[in-house]
Order: sequence, then structure tokens, then C-alpha cells
Amino acid sequence: MVGASLACALSGQGLRIAVVEGVASATRAEPGYDDRAIALAYGTRRILDGMGLWQQLLEDATPIHQIHVSDRGHFGAARMDRADEGLPAIGYVVPARAIGQVLEAAVARAADIELFCPAQVTGVERSDSDIRVHVRQDKAHFTLHGRVLVAADGADSSVREHFGITSLERDYGQSAIVTNITPQLLHRNIAYERFTDTGPLALLPMTEQRCAVVWTVASSQVDAVMQLSDEDFLAQLQEHFGQRLGRLQRVGRRQAWPLRLLHANESVRERVALIGNAVHTLHPIAGQGFNLGARDVAVLAEVLVDAVRRGEDPGALAVLERYDQWRRHDHRNVTVFTDGLARLFSLSLPGLGMVRGTGLLAFDLLPPAKRLLTRMTMGRSTRLPRLARGLPL
Ligand SMILES: Cc1cc2nc3c(=O)[nH]c(=O)nc-3n(C[C@H](O)[C@H](O)[C@H](O)COP(=O)(O)OP(=O)(O)OC[C@H]3O[C@@H](n4cnc5c(N)ncnc54)[C@H](O)[C@@H]3O)c2cc1C
Repeated sequence: MVGASLACALSGQGLRIAVVEGVASATRAEPGYDDRAIALAYGTRRILDGMGLWQQLLEDATPIHQIHVSDRGHFGAARMDRADEGLPAIGYVVPARAIGQVLEAAVARAADIELFCPAQVTGVERSDSDIRVHVRQDKAHFTLHGRVLVAADGADSSVREHFGITSLERDYGQSAIVTNITPQLLHRNIAYERFTDTGPLALLPMTEQRCAVVWTVASSQVDAVMQLSDEDFLAQLQEHFGQRLGRLQRVGRRQAWPLRLLHANESVRERVALIGNAVHTLHPIAGQGFNLGARDVAVLAEVLVDAVRRGEDPGALAVLERYDQWRRHDHRNVTVFTDGLARLFSLSLPGLGMVRGTGLLAFDLLPPAKRLLTRMTMGRSTRLPRLARGLPL
């Protein structure tokens, strides 16, 4: 999603862009009850708007009016509300399928983007004046030449590895179980984040009064939870979530995702930039991964286009370092925040629940702290690139 987003952002700027994607598209699938949801921050909506893509997602997007954070079995709750920011929504929940379809159609329409899919990047070579990417498609092997290679190849980035870029990595020993449910009561556009003894549990409002569930459990318990009957799964979920949405009535197909943290120590080299999960892979507790990647896209697109307009070589290290410097604080802040939250709310030490409850209560009563956090999760706390301000590139 992040790589295709960058290609779309750069389209129409007088560049030639190639996208190499290893896996054939599954986005032609029809909408269904099991659509996997992604929470988009308000800032990401602005970026997609700037790229001319948001209108096409509107029909599938469910606005989040409030985020409600609580700790199971303890007092104290915190609420973040759209009214505090004076905006129509804190964020939106959109099926990943819809985002994929919109990006894919935009890539297909663009005369300046060439898509190689399914095709594998098998090697990279750098010279002083260009970078060469070796590609295998079916039985054919060929080489693409360009001035910049952007690695949006995910957490196991082979480009990151090729250039010897080291990263901080930690296995959370947890997996996220993802599914959709239908509760008895209307979700009223509230996103729930609940901390339970197994790990954090999020219920996000979706279309048709569904809620997307992201439930973190210890890796040792995943198989047992995945094997539960739908009835038993709903009963366990109900026990952990409580009664705020009435009885949880229907559940879709479950998928489990092992969770790890990855924070690359560098995001650029001469002629190479890393974006998205290739440079930061986060715990999904706060739904920040793609949002952080969308901000990488907006900043890198601006840096590259400005360099070309000034007659600079966009692959020069001095140019790519502008992207690195601009993104460094946001990468660090969101990674530290997400990791801290994941660890704090996964610990079950005696007395910690009370401290968390008190913290949530105090946080709810402290408007400046709340405002800061809301702005960070909305992607509005850093210097905003043009696309994120709704301006053209
Ligand atoms: C359970 C869960 C819930 C989440 N919820 C949210 C949320 O609500 N909001 C949010 O913002 N984020 C969320 N995220 C995070 C979000 O899904 C990711 O951050 C985002 O999808 C990362 O996109 P990416 O394009 O950077 O990486 P990836 O999705 O990993 O894409 C990398 C791509 O590179 C391709 N590739 C890799 N190597 C090669 C090669 N050698 N040749 C060719 N192609 C190659 C792969 O095929 C793949 O398509 C969630 C994550 C999880 C696990």
C-alpha cells in the first residue's frame, strides 16, 4: 500500500516510475463481511485528498467521532473526541481492499507508472550516476535503471538488508487476532481501545454497523483462540470487552498476525530511501503503521519533486537526507509511543492496573496532554508537507 501510494503521489510530475510488486493483486475480491479494516488518521485523509484519491474512498469510510480507552477490571477511562479538535472526524475506518482497489486503479490509469506484477526484485547494484534493479517476472529476467530506488518492501525488506542497514527489532511474543463482529447496539462511530489481561483489544466502527476487532493475545494462546468455535470466541471476546455494545452477535473469519517491532537505524543511503514498514513496523495497538507510511509518502514525494524542479539529482544523498531529517522525529515519537503503550498494557503486575486506571483518569482530565496525543495519532503533530495540507505537490 505504501509503495503504490508513493507512485500515485509522484505521478504527473514529469518523472518515470516503475513499481515492482511480488504478489498478484487480491483486491478484485468483492466486498464482504470479512473485509480487513485499516484505521486512517485524519492526517492520512488529507494526504489522500491531496493525491485526489479520498473521494473514491468516501463510500467505504466510517468516520471515528470518539476514541474510548479503558482498562478491563479497573476504574478510569479516557476519551478523545473530534469536537476537541474541531474536525469532522478523528479518523476513518476503511477496508484495506478498498484502499488497494483505489491505488491499483490509479496506478493503472497513470501513463507515467509502469507496474511489474507479480515480479520479484532479485538484486540491486548502485553506480555513481544510477541504481539498477534486477527483476524476475515469469521466466524473464531484466534490469531497470533509475536515479532513485525507494524500498517499500515491508518488514523483511531485502533492500534494507542488501545495504546493510541495521535495525532495532523485538518480537512481542504476541499475535493480533483480526476479525469483524456485529454487536447488538449501534457503534455510534466510537472506536474502543480496551486493555485486557491477555493484551490490548480494539473495536473499530465499520460500515453496516460492523466492528473490526484487533485482539492481541500471547503467541502461546493464539492456536487455542483460533480454534475456538464462533460461539466460544464471541463469549470470550464479550467477557474481555464487556457490555458497552450489548451482546456481540455475529463473527466473521479470524486471521492471526504475529507482532514485532522494527525500527531501522537509517532510512536513506545514496540513491536509496526506505519507506513504510521497511523502516518502521509497529504493534497495531494504536493503528499507526500505514498512517506513518502515508506521511513518509507525502514528505518523500515533496523532497523528490522539489529536487527535480531545482535541477538537483533526486538520488543524491544530500537530497535524500532532507527526507530522513524531516521524518526522523515522527518515526521515533510514534514508535516510542506505540511500543510503550503495547508494553505497559501487556504487563500484569500487582497494582499496575490501579496505576493505569489513575493514569487514564488523569489523562482524561488533562486537556493539553490529550490534545497532544490526539494530534499525534491524527498525524498532525509534525511539520506538514504540502500534500498533508491539501495542497498540490
Ligand atoms: C493486525 C494489524 C492491524 C493493523 N491496523 C492498522 C491500522 O488500523 N491503521 C494503520 O495505519 N496501520 C495498521 N496496520 C499496519 C499496516 O497494515 C502496515 O503498516 C502497512 O500495511 C504497511 O504497508 P507497506 O506497504 O509499508 O508494507 P507491506 O504491506 O509489507 O508491503 C510490502 C510489499 O512489498 C512486496 N515485496 C517485498 N519484497 C519484494 C521483492 N523482493 N520483490 C517484489 N516485491 C516485494 C510485498 O509483496 C508487499 O506487497 C496494521 C497491521 C496489523 C498487522
